[in-house]
Amino acid sequence: VPKPERQLIERVRSLAEGYSRQRRTLVTGIGDDCAVLRPPAGHELLVTTDFSLEGVHFYREWHPPESVGHRCLTRGLSDIAAMGGQALACFLSLALPADLPQSWVDRFYRGLLKLADQHGVSLAGGDTAQSPGGVLADIMVIGSVPRGKAPLRGGAKPGDLIYATGVLGSGGATVRRLYAGEKVGPASVPHYFIPQPRLKVGLRLRGIASAMIDISDGLSTDLSHICEESGVGALVFSSAIPMARDATLDDVLHGGDDYELLFTSSKSVPKEIAGVAITEIGEVVERAGMWLQDERGRTKRLKAKGWEHFSHDVKV
Ligand SMILES: [Mg+2]
Repeated sequence: VPKPERQLIERVRSLAEGYSRQRRTLVTGIGDDCAVLRPPAGHELLVTTDFSLEGVHFYREWHPPESVGHRCLTRGLSDIAAMGGQALACFLSLALPADLPQSWVDRFYRGLLKLADQHGVSLAGGDTAQSPGGVLADIMVIGSVPRGKAPLRGGAKPGDLIYATGVLGSGGATVRRLYAGEKVGPASVPHYFIPQPRLKVGLRLRGIASAMIDISDGLSTDLSHICEESGVGALVFSSAIPMARDATLDDVLHGGDDYELLFTSSKSVPKEIAGVAITEIGEVVERAGMWLQDERGRTKRLKAKGWEHFSHDVKV
């Protein structure tokens, strides 16, 4: 009698094979002791891991399984995008409660694999275990970038302008609506439930961005990482920020889960890349710290308030 874990591996393997096209970078995927990858010649590898934990990053009552799978992989792909890389393969470690329906797991994988396929990424391995409580998913994504070409967080210079892709605040606004008991889902807020990692945009920003990061924890926190790593400060024009419908300035600054790109540049920057708007929102300054300036020119200090995910207790 096969063990449940073996059954799950076989199931994932057949699901993954149903999606994966022939990938030149993946020599051997699921089914051996290790995956074998062949990165493009002259490239460096990018490696990122991110947890998606039930009760921290999602609730089964709020997020359909396809959305949980999609968002799980988005977290990793968005990091690869922020390095100007292309994604090669992903690895998923998954701990599941014993009473979780198989249909939930299948739908989770479908959401994840559909996104992987859209970006030419193979699910090349992972691990499974039983969880004593709640779904725990850890995604690892491997990407590559031409040697020395990844835009890092530490490259911003005073005088560079600050830019953001897409619209911001959808994550924060949607979480507020969920807490308020509103019925929202992928059909009403696709940007939150099925966010599109900005891989194409990231690739095109290589050689343009002096520093780059993805906006996963809110503008204030992610901008503070660029400032700290670059040893600079930032002035943000609040009226210039491209805000999602329903979003407040607080959602934009301190909400999470937007998965847009934030970058600095001294070069000429296109207004749109791969169908995604690029908006100038501020400038890099020499003095350490962050400031927010409103349309009347009034300036106040901007503090990084890291997103605490679903930090407070909630009845669902
Ligand atoms: Mg990141």
